[in-house]
Amino acid sequence: MPTLVFGFRKEAGAVAVKPGKMMVTRAIIVMTALILALSIVSGASLVNIMVINGEKYQNDASEQQLYDSLVTAPRGDIYDRNMQKLATSSPAWTVYITPNGIKKLKADEATKVKEKIAEGLSEILELDYETVYSYCEKNSYYVIVKKKIEKTVADEIRQFLIDNKDLELTQYVGLDETTKRYYPNENLASVVLGFVGSDDQGLSGIESYYDNDLTGIAGRVVAAKNAAGTNMPFSYEKVEEATQGKSLVLTLDSYVQYTAEKYLENAIEANQIAERGAAVVMNVNTGAILAMAVKGDFDPNDPFTLSSADQEKVDAVTDEEEKKTLKSELLNRQWRNKAVSDTYEPGSVFKVVTASIAIEENLVNKNSSFYCNGHATVAGQRYSCHKRTGHGSQNLMQAISNSCNPAFITIGQFIGVSTFSKYFKAFGLTEKTGIDLPGEATSTYHKEENMGPVELSSSSFGQTFNVTPIQLITAIAAAVNGGYLVQPHLVEKKLDENGKTVETVSTSYKRQVISETTSATIRELMQYVSENGAKNSLVAGYNIGAKTGTSQKVAKIQATGDHYLYIGSCVTVAPIENPEIAVLVLLDEPKGDKYYGGVISAPVNSQIMADVLPYLGYEPSYSEEELKSLTLTVPDTVGATVEDAKSKITSAKLQYKVVGSGENVVRQLPEAGSKVISGGVVIVYTEEGGSEKVTVPNLVGLTATEVNEIAASSNVNVEFSGNTESGGLKSYKQSIEAGQSVDAGTIITVYFRDEEVVDG
Ligand SMILES: [Zn+2]
Repeated sequence: MPTLVFGFRKEAGAVAVKPGKMMVTRAIIVMTALILALSIVSGASLVNIMVINGEKYQNDASEQQLYDSLVTAPRGDIYDRNMQKLATSSPAWTVYITPNGIKKLKADEATKVKEKIAEGLSEILELDYETVYSYCEKNSYYVIVKKKIEKTVADEIRQFLIDNKDLELTQYVGLDETTKRYYPNENLASVVLGFVGSDDQGLSGIESYYDNDLTGIAGRVVAAKNAAGTNMPFSYEKVEEATQGKSLVLTLDSYVQYTAEKYLENAIEANQIAERGAAVVMNVNTGAILAMAVKGDFDPNDPFTLSSADQEKVDAVTDEEEKKTLKSELLNRQWRNKAVSDTYEPGSVFKVVTASIAIEENLVNKNSSFYCNGHATVAGQRYSCHKRTGHGSQNLMQAISNSCNPAFITIGQFIGVSTFSKYFKAFGLTEKTGIDLPGEATSTYHKEENMGPVELSSSSFGQTFNVTPIQLITAIAAAVNGGYLVQPHLVEKKLDENGKTVETVSTSYKRQVISETTSATIRELMQYVSENGAKNSLVAGYNIGAKTGTSQKVAKIQATGDHYLYIGSCVTVAPIENPEIAVLVLLDEPKGDKYYGGVISAPVNSQIMADVLPYLGYEPSYSEEELKSLTLTVPDTVGATVEDAKSKITSAKLQYKVVGSGENVVRQLPEAGSKVISGGVVIVYTEEGGSEKVTVPNLVGLTATEVNEIAASSNVNVEFSGNTESGGLKSYKQSIEAGQSVDAGTIITVYFRDEEVVDG
């Protein structure tokens, strides 16, 4: 038997397979003039026939009863950096019928078959009887009734075919095994992963950007069929095996991603964020993205379903056209990667870049002195400082920590238009980062020739130009990593179907923007900012660097007249001595009473860093002050003697209270493994029965030390959220309200933040 060679797939081998099974399980598409292929030995002739005369023979093929079937290739999987599956393919089935086969039957026999098929399939597949019946009457060899049905439904159809053996329905109804994309973690990283369409084609995110790699090469089956559409003799069937698509290993870490999404989502809810939020966690030295969280997002298993809040908005619209438009808008919004596809005015976070330029050019050093009287005037344009009374005399460290606009306007004028433009470009802010995601937006900024002292002034404090969050975090990474602009990326390697690495992405350095020395000074400045101007960004046990920003959405304010339109953001870098991780958090349009990046975004940076740094292997080193509010783990004492329990609790640096007069502990509160603040109390019960009740004290408006003392004397435990170690921060919320009756030992979460931060 000659090997069939297909013009467009000549590298593939062809092997014979048993008929029957293939025809039931593989997709069938009526194709080219393959009947001729069976009698032609020369591959070249076949190429000629297929490619050149393809259309003509395609028509003939249906007459000749020869079928060519495409065999779906499994799509590659997507893994995180620890080989946890983020996207995979599970089996699914396509139900099809072969109407032209039915046509060969006698009229009354054909009617019976059509009626039975319509009855059975409409019921099992929840379709109209008439619709299925009309499919049976089409002039075609292959009509798809439904795609991507689950195994249970496919089994029901198989049973239906067996039950109707007398009508030989297997000749007219078939199931093609295909695959269905499955995302085991639902919403996790959905905006990054994207989703696929009905034919498994990537439609957004990684699924779209790497569609060519992920899509395998379809195999094919060639078979001749007799008049009734059943298989002809064995020797006429051929198959080329499908080649699975490549799998991708991402730089994303599921834990870091989960952490970023969790805290971002909490902040969006707490601050009534109207236009979504984003959080990016990036390795500043390699450009590897460890997390890219965008909320609100979607479940890629079901991408066309809106969140319930968005669906309510759609339901409220009565006009059908408007309803459609709104639904489409909201769908596009939930799929959109805010970190890459949207631009914004970065505001004061950009002062890190301005400072880098001025230091690199020897125009200022960290001790340079600036004077702020509350405003600055440049070329007749007056700019106010957010501190109307002025910051007075300040050095560069203080000016950046104060986020003083007049000081940075002065620095901008020192730099001048030409140098500013040169560095703006060098920091990658005029070009796309080239991150491996679709839809990266381009920045908008003042071209050098259109830039006067006024544009230079506003640019130097991060306004009147727009960049993407990914551009900004990449520029900040360069400022702290020794000066190197890296290319951010999400795919680390590609694997073949055997899991063998076929391609590895190495770090791509674009250029050195500033010197190692300047970068070291920037790290010093940023650490000063975190410890002074941006305390909400601090992380107990670690030295970090920070800069916060709050920008007004000027264009939208002008368009709508609504003046309360802000983006609050914060970037942090850690460990600041030798940075590895940068986190950028951005909250778009807070509708609550706080909108400064230092108040609403910085706590998210802190929460992410606090979880991620120890996870990445950085050991914390606590100060005396920090030790007082350290989080401890409650030991397991159940089953132990009272004496053993006491010693276990004491060595865990916690207090105990024994309830009952039994010899052994029968239960405890908090449960083993719970996290409480040092000095907390574990209630151990030595007898079965009711619990000790206590009344929850007021824990709001107090310092961490005060909260600790009151909690201990009330026999409740506390857990802290936000920063408590930077002295003077007051609690603003408690998870269980004062006055409620709870079991002794209950853990209450107490929230802290610095609400005095102002960052222009
Ligand atoms: Zn000022």
